Amino acid sequence: MTTANKPTALIVIFGATGDLAKRKLFPSIYRLFQKEKMGNFAVVGVARRPLTEEEFQANVKDSVTTFAGATENIDEFASHFYYHSHDVTNEASYIKLREMAESLDEQYELSGNRIFYLAMAPEFFGTIAEQLKAQNLTETKGYKRLVIEKPFGTSFDSAQILNDKIRTAFSEDEIYRIDHYLGKEMVQNIEVIRFSNALFEPLWNSRYISNIQVTSSEVLGVEERGRYYETSGALRDMVQNHLMQMVALLAMEPPIRLETEEIRSEKVRALRSLRPLKKDEVGQYFVRGQYDEGVVDGETLPAYRNEHMVDPNSNTETFVAGKLMIDNFRWAGVPFYIRTGKRMEAKSTRIVVQFKDIPMNLYYKPNETLNPNLLVIHIQPEEGITLHLNAKKSGKNIETQPVQLAYSSSKVDRINTPEAYEKLLFDSMRGDATNFTHWDEVALSWKFVDTISEVWENTKETSFPNYPAGSTGPKSADQLLEEDGNFWWHIDKFEPNC
Ligand code: NAD
Repeated sequence: MTTANKPTALIVIFGATGDLAKRKLFPSIYRLFQKEKMGNFAVVGVARRPLTEEEFQANVKDSVTTFAGATENIDEFASHFYYHSHDVTNEASYIKLREMAESLDEQYELSGNRIFYLAMAPEFFGTIAEQLKAQNLTETKGYKRLVIEKPFGTSFDSAQILNDKIRTAFSEDEIYRIDHYLGKEMVQNIEVIRFSNALFEPLWNSRYISNIQVTSSEVLGVEERGRYYETSGALRDMVQNHLMQMVALLAMEPPIRLETEEIRSEKVRALRSLRPLKKDEVGQYFVRGQYDEGVVDGETLPAYRNEHMVDPNSNTETFVAGKLMIDNFRWAGVPFYIRTGKRMEAKSTRIVVQFKDIPMNLYYKPNETLNPNLLVIHIQPEEGITLHLNAKKSGKNIETQPVQLAYSSSKVDRINTPEAYEKLLFDSMRGDATNFTHWDEVALSWKFVDTISEVWENTKETSFPNYPAGSTGPKSADQLLEEDGNFWWHIDKFEPNC
């Protein structure tokens, strides 16, 4: 196997006994290894639990077998993994980690390249970054990069404090803030669909688009994450990052080149164009929900307030719907509706772009409406695009019928489609930060969301719980659109014929 021009690095995973490492990180590294995309590499797993190297390697083997379906080269792969039992708050532990890093660097010829992946609770991010610098782990002849998981703060102020801390040890271009939605195939496809099709880009504005709907719904409830979720809620957990990132990609101007800086600055400009909300306007633009008990497939599912580690009088939202307005030339007057929720009817992330009606409908008959054209981008679990058009019904009479042109990316490329984490890890090793969030994006999203969370935290929502588990959310989410003469498109299951 030749390693020329392939990224080489020591990957230090903080939180290596955690859920993320087991389900996503080890399997992603394994896939990159199997596809021979990596050059020399070694991994140091760091976590509190005392483990021997053998025990840790056994965990890694178990993870790649279970979550990446590994059958080949498992022992060889696992031999690249080392373990360091370490309390991140303990200074001495970093000195031992540095010695390990130096020795592995030599043994594997890693050119001093280091990736520090923080797969642990965010309250440790600042301390770890500061200690890495204080104990000279960031003094290396190669590159040093910090990869961090969400949540990045819980408000603009806390995010700024965190950012200032990590910036003492890493510069902005060495920080890779993960938003795993940006690693998803179809989220990356938004730009391609927009900027490579003469059919869409000329229409991508307020003259032809009526509204855009972004939905990310889950069937699951909070499961074991009640303690975290109580302090977060759907607004901070989903809207500030994933949903606003998708809106930025849909709304941004075409970058002059497909380069990280150019794309990021267009996304930042889109976020800067968001109409800021005043506190007394929040209720007009945003609604919240919390799931109640509900029956799904004959099983009664508990209300959020009865979940483990949740306050029985909780005011935390498990559902958010909102209307974002982008006050610039392209989008003036076009609502971007977003919604996300737990314990919904279906697991689905998708974007619906609704085009305006044609100026005069020749085919209109009483009691019949012509459907508007829709472009649906299916992000997960299905991956693909559907274009909803109208065509003639076969037969003598001129009658219309809705037709759908569909393309399924997963059907065509399933075997080759890399997982989001695999792509993002590889990008961080190659030094491509395009699909990570820049501090300016994080800051603007928090500033927007902060007004809403402040109002919601200070006003008890008396209607909670307000939607049954297994439904499409509270009625107020439908009313939000009805007030504008719109409604949420219910998209049938994606069944592409190509
Ligand atoms: P987890 O609770 O399963 O694992 C936490 C890890 O941190 C463990 O390895 C634990 O040993 C280690 N740890 C805790 N305290 C420590 C200390 N003082 N010193 C050293 N190690 C310590 O958490 P997780 O689910 O793997 O999530 C990790 C991070 O990733 C969190 O920020 C989470 O929000 C984020 N995240 C997780 C997922 C996921 O799918 N699990 C998805 C997106 C984001």
